Amino acid sequence: MAARPIVIYGDPVLREKAEPVIEIDRETKNLVRDMITTLQEASGLGLAAPQVGVSRRIFIADLSALDLAESMRVFINPEILETSGEVVLEEGCLSFPGIYQKISRPEHVKVRATDLEGNLFELEVSGMLARVILHEFDHLEGKLFIDYLSTVSRALMKSKLKKLSAAS
Ligand SMILES: [Zn+2]
Repeated sequence: MAARPIVIYGDPVLREKAEPVIEIDRETKNLVRDMITTLQEASGLGLAAPQVGVSRRIFIADLSALDLAESMRVFINPEILETSGEVVLEEGCLSFPGIYQKISRPEHVKVRATDLEGNLFELEVSGMLARVILHEFDHLEGKLFIDYLSTVSRALMKSKLKKLSAAS
């Protein structure tokens, strides 16, 4: 189990639609374990496989730093079944170090996914976990949080984004 380098904005893998996981084999398990180590070392709330350069439909979410009742959750081949409400929250992304923006997203989400043991599960959540799930799911579609910004906000961030993509 080793942390993998986090892909920074500008890398084309972040814009790819990720491939479904066919089998939870050793390679998948190793990937997820490495993602968990990577997320913990980065002190992030969520991480999607494309962020470590692997275009697979896997993400993890860990809210244990914010909520003691929470633990690391693994989502393989996730599907968003329902969303409702709307809430504006400040978001960051490990692929955009130093950038935080207020983004509007649904407040509640119902998601179906497979866990690392191969069990299908459904989860209906709101609040920060819903936010992380929607953000990470977007990564599997090649969508990034800056896509939700207004043209004005994006223009204001242009030089910051340029710096990130030049360094990657
Ligand atoms: Zn992200």
